[in-house]
Amino acid sequence: MSQALTIQIDGSFEGYALELVSGFLGESMNAATDALIRRGDGPGELPLIAGYTRRSIPPEPSPELYEKVRRKNSTFPFDLFAAMRFWLADEGNDDLSLSLDEHDRLIRADSAQAECADPEVPIINTYLQLFRTWVEAQYDRKFPRRQARIVLTHDVDDPVNPSSIGHALWLTGAAMFAGKPRASLGQLRHLPKRVWSRVQRKNPQHWNFTEIVDLEARYGARSAFYFASTPWWARGASDYDVSYDVRSPQFRREMKALTRSGAEVGLHLSYNARDDLELLKRERARLEGACGSKVLGGRHHYWHMKRPFWDTLEQHQRAGLRYDTSVGFNEAPGYRLGVALPFRPWNPETEAPVNVLQIPTMLMDGAILYDETCSVEDAVSKATTLIQKLVASEGTAAIDWHVRTSWPGCERFERWASVYEEVLRIVAEDSDVTFCTPGDLLGSAPLAGE
Ligand SMILES: [Zn+2]
Repeated sequence: MSQALTIQIDGSFEGYALELVSGFLGESMNAATDALIRRGDGPGELPLIAGYTRRSIPPEPSPELYEKVRRKNSTFPFDLFAAMRFWLADEGNDDLSLSLDEHDRLIRADSAQAECADPEVPIINTYLQLFRTWVEAQYDRKFPRRQARIVLTHDVDDPVNPSSIGHALWLTGAAMFAGKPRASLGQLRHLPKRVWSRVQRKNPQHWNFTEIVDLEARYGARSAFYFASTPWWARGASDYDVSYDVRSPQFRREMKALTRSGAEVGLHLSYNARDDLELLKRERARLEGACGSKVLGGRHHYWHMKRPFWDTLEQHQRAGLRYDTSVGFNEAPGYRLGVALPFRPWNPETEAPVNVLQIPTMLMDGAILYDETCSVEDAVSKATTLIQKLVASEGTAAIDWHVRTSWPGCERFERWASVYEEVLRIVAEDSDVTFCTPGDLLGSAPLAGE
């Protein structure tokens, strides 16, 4: 029997990161002063340094580096923990003057992820793979390889068919009844357009829930749907918020049907929920009341979180949410914190982890399809590359396809829907990657690095 895997660690971040390392190896590593893995620059040791910068952060390990770490008594080439901290604590992007878009989201092109590495490779996973190879060579171990996993999620942003009059009338009535003339007028304002859309031949279909569930079932998949429960006319709302009310009969019925089919219903947190805990709690309660089941997590509308986002992530825990998928790039695919594993985020402001599971989102539909010149073939090839990189790094990540774009219900999103189905097919046919839902991850993972 081989000796217990113990390591010298330094400080609270390293203690936290050890959970992620252990989770990745599939074997628990413990801290000890007289440890098997010692820290330093000597033979067989793991270096200990103060920290990395954009200039010094180790790149994705090369084949030569793999050769090196396989040699007996080789020193690991960098400080694994300081390198993990650089990405997880967002140290490469902590300059607040960095370029942010109008919704406070970091533009990928200006990120440390793009400057120091391939932002579409989860670099922390690659460090962990190198570390695993090193430990295997130094201590004659063998650890299992991890199967890659894709989590399918759908933001429910504009799900009502443009020609649907029923929901508009219900809203108008409900708003009048609640003494909210602004909401009522808002609905009436759109009514002529809806009627016009109805008399036209082409009826664009955005209400694709059943179709999506059936489509995914054909590929052996289930997904999570994130409904917003603060419409733009509600107290505390923004004009960016959605134009539907989850309390209407149509939504209640649909959410119950989704849950019955094995899909998950989650919360699309409203634009202003990022710094309003009471609003967040209200949203969760309203959605739970309407869908009749427990809401475990979701994603922020517009990925709109505080900058930096640690404080917003802390709010999830206070509101009773158990997972989140809001840490991602908006306009391009990739890994916002350099990792493709379910993990507890590290809050560098409190020097402690946030006890809500973060599932990194690697791709939103629009990140490749807003560009109208991008053909279905090009988009599929981009998605395929991303999936291959996820598989190579043994990662777990979410993708986000909107409800109106996941099924070819209208001409405008036909291209988007074709790409979605191709993604389902590619994953279903590849035995190295499997589908899972946020609920599966919560069920299988203690709240650690999994
Ligand atoms: Zn949204």
